[in-house]
Amino acid sequence: MTSFCHVSTNPFDDDKLREECGVFGVFGAHTAAAHTALGLHALQHRGQEAAGIVTVDNGQFHAHRALGLVGDAFASNEVMQGLVGDIAIGHVRYSTSGDTILRNVQPLFAEFAFGGVGIAHNGNLTNAYTLKKVLIERGAIFQSTSDTEVIFHLMALGAGKTLEQRLVDALNQVEGAYSLVVLGSDRVIGVRDPAGVRPLVLGKLGDAYLLASETCAFDIIGAQYVRDVAAGEMVSIDANGIHSSFPFDKSPSRFCIFEYIYFARPDSLFEDKSVYAVRKNIGKQLARESHVDADVIVPVPDSGVTGALGYAEQSGITFELGIIRNHYVGRTFIEPTDHIRHLGVKLKHNTNKAYIKDKRVILVDDSIVRGTTSVKIVDMVRQAGAKEVHMRIASPPTTHSCFYGVDTPSRDKLMAAQHSIAEMAKLIGVDSLAFISLDGLYQALGETKRNKEMPQYCDACFTGEYPLPLTDHNSTTLPKNKKNVLKELMRAR
Ligand code: AMP
Repeated sequence: MTSFCHVSTNPFDDDKLREECGVFGVFGAHTAAAHTALGLHALQHRGQEAAGIVTVDNGQFHAHRALGLVGDAFASNEVMQGLVGDIAIGHVRYSTSGDTILRNVQPLFAEFAFGGVGIAHNGNLTNAYTLKKVLIERGAIFQSTSDTEVIFHLMALGAGKTLEQRLVDALNQVEGAYSLVVLGSDRVIGVRDPAGVRPLVLGKLGDAYLLASETCAFDIIGAQYVRDVAAGEMVSIDANGIHSSFPFDKSPSRFCIFEYIYFARPDSLFEDKSVYAVRKNIGKQLARESHVDADVIVPVPDSGVTGALGYAEQSGITFELGIIRNHYVGRTFIEPTDHIRHLGVKLKHNTNKAYIKDKRVILVDDSIVRGTTSVKIVDMVRQAGAKEVHMRIASPPTTHSCFYGVDTPSRDKLMAAQHSIAEMAKLIGVDSLAFISLDGLYQALGETKRNKEMPQYCDACFTGEYPLPLTDHNSTTLPKNKKNVLKELMRAR
């Protein structure tokens, strides 16, 4: 670290938002930990700050958690050899702050009266603070600031004899989004919240069953994608095979639409749909909705590439990699002064000038959140001599924060929440700016349009229509400073 840098513990300090987490589970594979490490490596895009694996062998649990990338965390033979057993779960995540960091790294593990349990969570519980307050009043001692730990305390106090019963009892008290992979002494359980906001897929490798956030984690080990775990479904996998149940009150499925737009790897499938194909469809739809005469389509790498391919295919305009991204720039960890933030983005991107100079350029990106990326990229493209710069965005304007597992800034920092599209175009410095329409987005997903009464996906970041209660956020009894604690809780997962 250079001397002018200041180590920052604020997750909003770099110029990108954090992604959510990735989970993986395996039952019945020799060297389950190695399978898990590979699966987590494929899920690395979902969280780069920390990784963990817990295995079980003859009732004995083994765990390793570390900060950093999967490849570094599980590089040592000694670590891998210590993770014995045919059953394992794993997690990749982003971090919270300072010293508390390792305590929050998942999978979390606890010993209960009915045995040891590991848990890996993707999502965010929206009543975690409210529950935590009650639990602390009842004597619970929390070891982490993670909302996931609330589930453990509810399980400890809950009703039921089996792990499944305790888990369901606990989950009946939580609100929000969760895709969990749970490890017991002789089983792995996968469970999705009743709305199925976050993904979870089921796979098979020989006789072994696998669970993962995305199918790309199966491909890496040559496993087959069997199906998605359904919204509200619990699958319990043990020596007798797989048992599926729907233990919660039924509720409409509301899968996160942003998984298709940005989060997931393009080689993953959800609901049998290819993320890559959906992104190309979005690009095509965008071209139909907001055509502009231009000489070249340039994606903002990497997130804009697939949409730009679709845009180019539909419009017939040449596609060029007019911006090149340096993949070896990690997090900047730099104080967010304007000057340094600009420097950070320039470290990541450079223009391929010959393909931009004197051209009418259409830039395609997946989303505008705070607008930081767009401002820098457009400036760079203008400096490279573009004649005109038009921006096309493969999602509707992001006007609302996510409370279901995506670490978005508050509304006052979301450019589209504060400005009209015309104002945004001015601020970003483009000749024109257009976003895909909400119905157009649904069409790209194979729907005829968005069902206004019961939207097929969670699209709260674009509409403000939150499908699950925001108990903590809306709590009027929550003192102002406690809202920070809540924010911390939300980040901690
Ligand atoms: P911003 O610079 O704040 O407008 O962020 C927009 C850029 O961040 C786009 O290029 C997206 O690819 C990317 N992005 C959008 N949402 C997220 C997220 N939740 N985590 C990480 N990056 C994101």
